[in-house]
Amino acid sequence: MRIGMVGSGYVGLVSGACFADFGHEVCCVDKDPAKIAALNRGEIPIFEPGLAELVAKNVREGRLTFTTDLSGAVAAAAAVFIAVGTPSRRGDGHADLSFVHQAAREIAAALAGYTVVVTKSTVPVGTGDEVERIIRETRPDADFAVVSNPEFLREGAAIADFKRPDRIVIGAEDARAAQLMTELYRPLYLNQAPLIVTSRRTAELTKYAANAFLATKITFINEIANLCEQVGANVQDVARGIGLDNRIGTKFLHAGPGYGGSCFPKDTLALIKTAQDYEAPVRIVETVAAVNDQRKRAMGRKVIAACGGTVRGETIAVLGLTFKPNTDDMREAPSIDVIRTLQDAGARIRAYDPEGMAAARAVLSEVEYARDPYDCARGAAALVIVTEWDMFRALDLARLKAALARPIVVDLRNIYRPDDMKRNGFAYVSIGRPKIL
Ligand code: NAD
Repeated sequence: MRIGMVGSGYVGLVSGACFADFGHEVCCVDKDPAKIAALNRGEIPIFEPGLAELVAKNVREGRLTFTTDLSGAVAAAAAVFIAVGTPSRRGDGHADLSFVHQAAREIAAALAGYTVVVTKSTVPVGTGDEVERIIRETRPDADFAVVSNPEFLREGAAIADFKRPDRIVIGAEDARAAQLMTELYRPLYLNQAPLIVTSRRTAELTKYAANAFLATKITFINEIANLCEQVGANVQDVARGIGLDNRIGTKFLHAGPGYGGSCFPKDTLALIKTAQDYEAPVRIVETVAAVNDQRKRAMGRKVIAACGGTVRGETIAVLGLTFKPNTDDMREAPSIDVIRTLQDAGARIRAYDPEGMAAARAVLSEVEYARDPYDCARGAAALVIVTEWDMFRALDLARLKAALARPIVVDLRNIYRPDDMKRNGFAYVSIGRPKIL
């Protein structure tokens, strides 16, 4: 089947490459000429494990192409995906749908023959109706259906998530479109992925409900971690103790510096706004967003407390900048708030991240970037682990201690064991576990 993918970012590029790998013919479109030129040179504009190889293979085999010419890609396609960004609208937190609406107008103008237009971007309930209205208004003669097919992949594990999803959700209002979508995803049933066909509004809401629930789970365990610190309990043991209950599950129960990234913060906010508009407020999610917002700066204060109450004039080493490992994505990364809190308190920051330093330069100012974790620690008053990249999990502790001016480690991801750190002579502060001072 021929597919047009409008928007070639994290979701569009991964989805496009995976569909091509399943044998479909995919044309990825982006309005950013630099991105398309890079892709046509064989360069991948983002860091996502395995993506470069997958793209190269499918380009070589002739199933994956890149263009800035939306109309050609749309005219040839049986299904056109909208995978453009839906950031928070400045000022009010509603989802900014201007990219989606613009894409709908451009797609409408290019439609030829029966086409299913699929919203893969995360969009508020009712956006499918609006996309349909825009297309109908632009092209009253067009033969099309608008379907919602939210994407659940995680950056850092995006290819595996796309190819072996827990479920595929398709929100369609007519049988012909649902049939085409089922055919499109047929290669994935071989992997036993359940395909759920719902109404379009249900599918749209399902995505927000999923992200809000996951954000709630994280925030819940983060608050339990705070309590653990006060009462002398260990949050990792609590998480295991509750997570092994199948009704709860062990995933998303890792206490840390608060959730970030390109999805949870904006999607929780957008859900809150939608719910308020419909007078069915989601108070739990409102609280989750507020608690999480405050947590990130609180992590900066935790570092200051570990340093004895002041960091003025000191260098603080920060390991890990991206919002999670195995991505270069800095959107809403907790590191940003942690670093700004420390800078506000007069600290100098030296940071290291295996993939995120280029993106970090665009959002952080007055940060010195290091060559590796030991270079980062050089002469620093404390080392803070913000993102749990694998390469930080087995650092040479003797070398680290020798590099630091003071042997203080604040581990916001609990990747070291308090006993080991004590044995190696560190003052060690982690999340929801006993302090070693
Ligand atoms: P992104 O910013 O990485 O990519 C969006 C791309 O769309 C950009 O390259 C932009 O240039 C392009 N674009 C915008 N308007 C266009 C137009 N009219 N024509 C052609 N190209 C256009 O965004 P992303 O992270 O891939 O997210 C896309 C959507 O998927 C969002 O709604 C997001 O919430 C959702 N989503 C993201 C993830 C994730 O992990 N990143 C996971 C699930 C869902």
